[in-house]
Amino acid sequence: MLIGPEQEALIGRVFESYLTEHHHGDLLQLSGGLPEEIHRPVVVNAMTLFETSMEVGDYFNAFPEDVLAVFNKVLHRKAVEASQGSPLRPNGEQRRNPMLHARITGLPVCPELTRDTVPRSRDVGHFLSVTGTVIRTSAAKVLEFERDYICTKCRHVFTVQADFEQFYTFVPPQSCSNPAGCNSFKFSCLSEGCEPSSCRDYQEIKIQEQVQRLTVGSIPRSVVVVLEDDMVDSCKSGDDVTVYGVVCQRWRPLFEGSRCEVELVLKANNMEVNNQQTAATLLIKDVHKEFEEFWQSFKTDPIAGTDHTYRCCLLLTSG
Ligand SMILES: [Zn+2]
Repeated sequence: MLIGPEQEALIGRVFESYLTEHHHGDLLQLSGGLPEEIHRPVVVNAMTLFETSMEVGDYFNAFPEDVLAVFNKVLHRKAVEASQGSPLRPNGEQRRNPMLHARITGLPVCPELTRDTVPRSRDVGHFLSVTGTVIRTSAAKVLEFERDYICTKCRHVFTVQADFEQFYTFVPPQSCSNPAGCNSFKFSCLSEGCEPSSCRDYQEIKIQEQVQRLTVGSIPRSVVVVLEDDMVDSCKSGDDVTVYGVVCQRWRPLFEGSRCEVELVLKANNMEVNNQQTAATLLIKDVHKEFEEFWQSFKTDPIAGTDHTYRCCLLLTSG
């Protein structure tokens, strides 16, 4: 974590007041009577949020994943409060709440943040949105994202996260994280041989740049997008989508003698399907408009309008 406790407190405060102002109803609705394991999005408008604090906007641009983690923490706390109707009890009981995720939308329209082209390596670590067409969707999988390890010497138990940068593999811990100090380097995994306890839905899709949005002569490129939780299965091949997320790098675990290949992926935070804005629907809209305008011009005399269409039809059929 690169942001300190002071910054975290500020981000938390700003986000909390944003939620109270714009999403109070959503929180009440989302926290009531839903099973614990269901993932729910709370769509956060970046422009509205960062209008209230430019500083938080700056932190978000610099450390998007850390700031999103703070947002989710605040969301969870607010949902607990909303479901109890009173502030969170100090012992933190009653954690029966759906998993809420702050999903960002409405990024300012500028070339750094809003793209029609696939990100490049200089964008690594940045949060941005990319509009493209889904060209491939993989099957949804169950992903184990964390495991508990126990130190064989001091019996200290700690959690290890799967490493996103290494295709979510588990890198065995190198040292004991016991705060009291321990020099052991032998650990055993608590979930070995039994069902993994911390899992989430996972899916990879590939999106391609849209030719009509590119400059003439450029070949559309594509990028893999990683979807998790409620975003899984939210789109299909051929969909026109806008993906919001952090540009990341990943590589297979390193082995002696094998070449390391690094690829760029977009770790999605939010995805919008824009199919209603496709060319065909725009055309239909145009035809509708033309039709309405035609009848509007004959508003005072609809008979003349009918007569006009009748004559046109006659002309067409008689050649
Ligand atoms: Zn230890």
